[in-house]
Amino acid sequence: MSFESLGLSADILKALNKKGYSKPSPIQAQAIPAILKGRDVMAAAQTGTGKTAGFTLPILDILAKGKQPSTKQARTLIITPTRELAAQILESVETYGKFLNLSSTVVFGGVKINPQIKRLQKGVDILVATPGRLLDLHHQGEVRFDELEVLVLDEADRMLDMGFIHDIRKILSYLPSQRQNLLFSATFSNEIRKLAKTMVNDPVEISVTPRNTTADTVKQWIVPVDKKRKADLLAALTHKHDWEQVLVFSRTKHGADRLVKQLDKKQITAVAIHGNKSQNARTRALASFKKNGVRVLVATDIAARGLDINQLPQVVNFDLPNVPEDYVHRIGRTGRAGKAGQAISLVSADEIKQLRDIERLIGKVLERRLEDDFEPDHDVPASNLNLDVKKSSRSKTTSFKKKSSGNRKPTSKTNFRNRNKNKNKKPNKSVNRPNKKK
Ligand code: ADP
Ligand code: MG
Repeated sequence: MSFESLGLSADILKALNKKGYSKPSPIQAQAIPAILKGRDVMAAAQTGTGKTAGFTLPILDILAKGKQPSTKQARTLIITPTRELAAQILESVETYGKFLNLSSTVVFGGVKINPQIKRLQKGVDILVATPGRLLDLHHQGEVRFDELEVLVLDEADRMLDMGFIHDIRKILSYLPSQRQNLLFSATFSNEIRKLAKTMVNDPVEISVTPRNTTADTVKQWIVPVDKKRKADLLAALTHKHDWEQVLVFSRTKHGADRLVKQLDKKQITAVAIHGNKSQNARTRALASFKKNGVRVLVATDIAARGLDINQLPQVVNFDLPNVPEDYVHRIGRTGRAGKAGQAISLVSADEIKQLRDIERLIGKVLERRLEDDFEPDHDVPASNLNLDVKKSSRSKTTSFKKKSSGNRKPTSKTNFRNRNKNKNKKPNKSVNRPNKKK
């Protein structure tokens, strides 16, 4: 299978060649022809398997053949949950569209709106956006959708969950009903999938591997440890393994800031990225981490989705996420594009519920490894999932090297958890924090 055989134009093939892609990944091989045919697509494929090019390449091809946009019109809208992901997708659009005469831009909150208004003035072929700023711009009459041809929801299940669905519904109400809809993610709960189906028209459903599985390029295990010793353990592991670039996830903003200070005291350079930081500080933190300016980036789940940090070797969950899907996305920041990666979760006894939810979602019990000198006084209870043993064979890879396993369907309902349902559950006294913005 080659990019040529998928029917992409010469200018796009040239850009791919320049980027060094030799052949399409399985999700690309399936999604590109369907999108070129004009079909709606709902696609699930593991983290780091090239979903961005999977929707961007055929869109570029389609747009290059059509008419230029009129004043303030956007022909394609790509919506993402975070500003950093929006910026990254614009970069991909520019890279793949390098030899085409198409315009693209990105809009998100936390930065001045006037330069964005200016860039939208002439109309734009591809607009990447986060929902809040997009709605602002639309309400101010600065962007219009009468000529909209394609809508993409990247991280689609996140865009349709409680945090965003209200904005998304509003945006949908402003779009022409005749349009192509493309929904991509590594995770889809059954409930979100049902909701998603109400907004697409006769979609091609692609599921390269069972939904909700972790990429098997990522080696993952947990280290049981007492809560109060986690920071010391993280520092010890960083020193012991000489980690030079590690992405650490914290459930809370406050916890992220505290951890940065604790690491600092142990001579480990760290910065935090979360929703209470200015956009300027967020951008700087990510850029500095990407170019190895700091060893540790401590992030809330705003960094869990979509970010592609070149060859990131190591992810640590300082605590487990309350939403099990977030685990899949967090650890999916490593082990991308067929590279190997490692994800270690520091788990204390009070996190047993989160651990069980995660293990149920991904369909396997996580290996436990104790660290010398950090054996916990409070044991993490043994996992007890009643998992069907056969299920551990479900996580076949979608890596760039191996062949697609086709449209295999997941085998058991128990593997899917609903984000919203979880949110509404009574918080576990000792573990869950109020459901604040990240
Ligand atoms: P996903 O959205 O599925 O998590 P991305 O679209 O972010 O994954 O792609 C992950 C990485 O794989 C990126 O660094 C991208 O440049 C790279 N990539 C995408 N397609 C190919 C390909 N066909 N060959 C080699 N690398 C690719
Ligand atoms: Mg992605």
